[in-house]
Amino acid sequence: MSRRKVEERIGIMQLKNIKEFTKEWKAAMKAEVAQMTEVPKLLIIQVGDIEASNRYVRNKIKDCEEVGMMCDLLKFDEHITSEKLQDTIYEVQPEYDGVMVQLPLPKHINLDILNSIKGAKDVDGLTKNTKFNPCTPFGIMKYLEACEFDFTGKHAVVIGRSEIVGKPMARLLLEKNATVTTCHSKTKNLYHHLTQADLIVSAVGSPGIVNATVISPDVPIIDVGINFVEGKLIGDVWNPSERENITPVPGGVGLLTRCALLQNTLDAAKYYR
Ligand code: NDP
Repeated sequence: MSRRKVEERIGIMQLKNIKEFTKEWKAAMKAEVAQMTEVPKLLIIQVGDIEASNRYVRNKIKDCEEVGMMCDLLKFDEHITSEKLQDTIYEVQPEYDGVMVQLPLPKHINLDILNSIKGAKDVDGLTKNTKFNPCTPFGIMKYLEACEFDFTGKHAVVIGRSEIVGKPMARLLLEKNATVTTCHSKTKNLYHHLTQADLIVSAVGSPGIVNATVISPDVPIIDVGINFVEGKLIGDVWNPSERENITPVPGGVGLLTRCALLQNTLDAAKYYR
C-alpha cells in the first residue's frame, strides 16, 4: 500500500507547505477585495521605535498592499500618554474597518486603552469585546483546516496558556471537538502529555522545549515559538530537521498570523461596516 493510502487509512495528516498555503490564501483575499466597491482599511498605531516592531509594521503594510487593502500608520513618540493615545483611537477609528495597536507598548501606557478599540474593529482580536479571533491561533486553525486535519476526538496538546496564543488556541481546538490538554510552566512531566498527543502546538518561547525526535513523526507539530539564539531565529522545537511534519521557524506560523490579520480586516469590512 502506498504511503498516501496508509495515511488516509489511519488518519495521519501531513502538513502543507506554509509559503504555498499563505500565497493561495492571499490570492483568495485579493480576488475578494477586487470585487469590493470600497477596499478594506486598516489603521496601525505604533508607539516608540523598537526595531522588531518597525519590522512587523513594515510587513503588515506590505501585506495590505499585496492584497489591495488600504493601510495607514500612525506612529507616536514613546512619551505619549495613555490618555492621548486613547483619545486618538476614539477620534480616528470611525474612518477604518480595522484598528490595531502594535505591541509591545511602553511600560507607562495602560493596556486598558486597547479596549477603546470597538469590538467590530479589533482585528487583532485582543480586547474583551472583540468580534475576531486572535490572529495567531486563527491563522493556525485555517492552516490545519486546509491540511484537512480531522479535529474531532483528536488529542491536541497546547503548550502555553497566554491570552494571545495558548488559551484562544485551546478554545478554537475545543470548538472543533478536539480533546485538548493545555500545558504550562507548572505542568508536571510535559513529555507524558506530548507522547499521547495527535497534534502539538508549542507556544512557549523556550528553545528546545519540544524534542521532535521523541515524538512520533505522524504527529503534526505547530511551532509558534520565536527565540533568538546566538543571533539566529529558532522556534521551540529541538531537532526540527530530524523529522517531517513540523512548521518551520522562520517562515511558518508568522506567515499564518500575518494572513489572519488581513482576513480579520477583510471580514470587518464585509460584516461590520
Ligand atoms: P507568553 O510568555 O505570554 O506565554 C508563554 C507560555 O508558556 C506561558 O503560558 C507559560 O506558562 C508557558 N511556559 C513557560 N515555560 C514553560 C515550560 N517550561 N513548560 C511548559 N510551559 C511553559 O508568550 P506568548 O503566548 O505571547 O508567546 C509564546 C511564544 O510564541 C513566544 O516565543 C512568542 O514570541 C511567540 N509568538 C509567535 C507568534 C507568531 O506569529 N509566530 C505570535 C505570538 C507569539 P505560565 O502561564 O505558567 O507562565
